[in-house]
Amino acid sequence: MIMKQYDKFIEVKILEALERRIRNYHPKKEIIIRDLKKKKSEVAGEKEIEYPLGFLNPDKFLILHNLRLQDENGNFQIDTLILTERYYIILEVKNWQGTVLFDENGQVIRKRSIEEEEGFPNPISQVKTQTFRLQKWLRMHNFPELKIESFVVISFPSTIIKPVQPTIQIPEQVIHNNQLYFKIMELEKNKYPHQTTMNMLMDISQQLIELHTPPIINLFHKYKLNRSDLNFGVRCPECRSLPMIRLKQKWHCTPCGIFSRSAHRSALEDYRLLIGNTITNKQAREFLLVESPDVIRRILLKEKLIQRGNTKSSIYMWES
Ligand SMILES: [Zn+2]
Repeated sequence: MIMKQYDKFIEVKILEALERRIRNYHPKKEIIIRDLKKKKSEVAGEKEIEYPLGFLNPDKFLILHNLRLQDENGNFQIDTLILTERYYIILEVKNWQGTVLFDENGQVIRKRSIEEEEGFPNPISQVKTQTFRLQKWLRMHNFPELKIESFVVISFPSTIIKPVQPTIQIPEQVIHNNQLYFKIMELEKNKYPHQTTMNMLMDISQQLIELHTPPIINLFHKYKLNRSDLNFGVRCPECRSLPMIRLKQKWHCTPCGIFSRSAHRSALEDYRLLIGNTITNKQAREFLLVESPDVIRRILLKEKLIQRGNTKSSIYMWES
């Protein structure tokens, strides 16, 4: 049973909004496009993992995706955690594409072409650290410390895994996504010294979900941007031009000539993703490039934002 879903998709949506809104020729635009591509590939990799996990008996396997927990050393993240009555499994998902070479120290070199090489830290040490920190976390919360198994899962089936030299062994824990289900079935045959109950596993899941601390995504901070780096205005749904002009109860695009009653929706969605869950009338006037406070008030209330306060300085909130 999936107890916690992936939550990286929101990061993709925020980056997409930024890519749409950042000024053309802005010096950070290229980095943002690159990061968006990377994030999309991570999400695609996660989707690949869902398929083999879908074959597991939902009454026996509790699955939690994208956990970020705190201990005295800071945060640690687990891509996927699987809880069973006899053992737990940590999955470290790798979205490596191309050819991946393992050296004798477990370090990884990815080759996409002859010229393009990229090094990655040893994934086995990474899962060992996660295992150690999860063990400590379980102990601290008085949960049963069952054996923790782990796999480094290469999400894309087309990725080639090879040793740098034929004498070097690739660690057994490194597997392709399509082996995942069978590897878990092999674990099922093992004997484990301890056992717990499904009720206890439900308690652990609940506690993990409660203590999960999603990263705060502040792209303005990350890319050192100001609001003035963004294009404001309502975008034309037809020709993508900015900004549309507000006429009586509708928006008009001068370049292509279309009218729209709802074009402000995607602009407000961009505002929400990039700036936050609340907006004042003044902020909305600035962002949608509309002069009249009454027009803005009507738009915000029609979009079902909740008004807090009745004065000029009311704040409007999206229902979360
Ligand atoms: Zn247009």
